[in-house]
Amino acid sequence: MSRRPASDSASTAAHGSRARVVVVGAGAVGLAVALQLRRAGVDRVVVIDRNASAGMGSTSRANGGVRAQFTTRVNITFSQFTIERLRELDEQTGGQVGFRGVGYLFLTGTDSGEIALRRAWELQRSLGVDVQWLSAAEVIELAPFVNVDGLAAAAFSAGDGIIDPHGVVSALWQEARRLDAGFIFDAEVLDLAGDGDGATVRTTAGDMHADFVVNAAGPSARNLAAKAGVDLPVTSRRRNLACTEPVSGFPAAIPMCVDADTGVLIRREGAGFLIGFSDPGDPPSTDTAFDPAFLDAIAARIGNRFPFLEDVPISLRKCWAGLYPETPDHHAIVGAPPDMPWFIQCAGFGGHGIMHSIAAGQAVTELVTAGRCTTFDLHPLRVNRFNESGGALETAVL
Ligand SMILES: Cc1cc2nc3c(=O)[nH]c(=O)nc-3n(C[C@H](O)[C@H](O)[C@H](O)COP(=O)(O)OP(=O)(O)OC[C@H]3O[C@@H](n4cnc5c(N)ncnc54)[C@H](O)[C@@H]3O)c2cc1C
Repeated sequence: MSRRPASDSASTAAHGSRARVVVVGAGAVGLAVALQLRRAGVDRVVVIDRNASAGMGSTSRANGGVRAQFTTRVNITFSQFTIERLRELDEQTGGQVGFRGVGYLFLTGTDSGEIALRRAWELQRSLGVDVQWLSAAEVIELAPFVNVDGLAAAAFSAGDGIIDPHGVVSALWQEARRLDAGFIFDAEVLDLAGDGDGATVRTTAGDMHADFVVNAAGPSARNLAAKAGVDLPVTSRRRNLACTEPVSGFPAAIPMCVDADTGVLIRREGAGFLIGFSDPGDPPSTDTAFDPAFLDAIAARIGNRFPFLEDVPISLRKCWAGLYPETPDHHAIVGAPPDMPWFIQCAGFGGHGIMHSIAAGQAVTELVTAGRCTTFDLHPLRVNRFNESGGALETAVL
């Protein structure tokens, strides 16, 4: 991760200063919020992070997938918006984002899997996502290493792809700084005290007043919200990734291939392959050490669609873990509690925080500038939905 420039330091937290918006968290989400606010001309935007630099939290551990193949309207539209702008940012920054349009390929061999995939495919297409329904022969053409025995259905969207998470951080941060967003590092937010006019943000580097505070604290969002007395159901879950040693004889560019029946996904990483799997039964955890049991979990599942990887050794130097900031329905929380309009939550993005970051930034910007969001329907993401029944549930959780 790139180091901060000398001008960004805790000393800029002028004691007693006044911001229009304080964004807590300089991960992909907080950076995108700051960027969109500045693009909309909102003055005095200050991002505060307890780490020494930007993008050192969950964002630094991400796989780098970006996809519009979700199962709910809001998640699809957040992806579409963000992917388009990540492509633009990539061009604007000379390729810093590292966008590779390799697509995502979903595979299933069960009747229920086929029904779910078709339902998602119909919704995605109705929203303008160019996702194709593939036969087994077409799957083999695209990804000759896939075991298509018993394949019931497959869907592929060429508009999905892969980005470099560190590159996204650099590009968002660079753009936000160019537009004069302020950054304060090595400063932890200790307390938030609302008043009639916003809130006082108490930090280890001094206090500031803000008209709006944005909670972009990733897996720590619940802790931050609690400082203002808000109970936010964001829990952190450890997620692991493992890379193989080099494997020859396969194309250098392959889609992100998802076995929807086991949850295992693979993509190219250098000369080898990267393998991901999120066990829905994992308990909440803040442990970011790689879990060796993950290797047993993938060994038990990889043979279903990707048997060519069964005997390929894992490179133990290239295995890592990080935290998903999860919510019970696998949708983010974007909006303020009704009685605290100054405290905008922008958290709980699970395994899709980078691919939803710029849309989240846009939504928060509209809440700040207009008091409501017209680009997206934020109703499914409202803070107080968890006590109600019948809300949307995202099932394409990877
Ligand atoms: C293994 C793995 C694979 C993933 N793969 C993908 C993927 O393919 N695509 C995708 O889109 N997403 C992926 N994700 C998810 C993605 O990484 C997260 O959703 C995203 O990074 C969340 O961004 P964030 O800015 O909300 O949080 P973070 O990046 O964690 O940033 C939050 C920041 O808040 C700061 N902070 C917290 N509390 C305080 C405080 N009190 N005071 C000051 N600062 C504070 C922290 O220091 C941190 O820097 C993956 C995650 C993991 C772990």
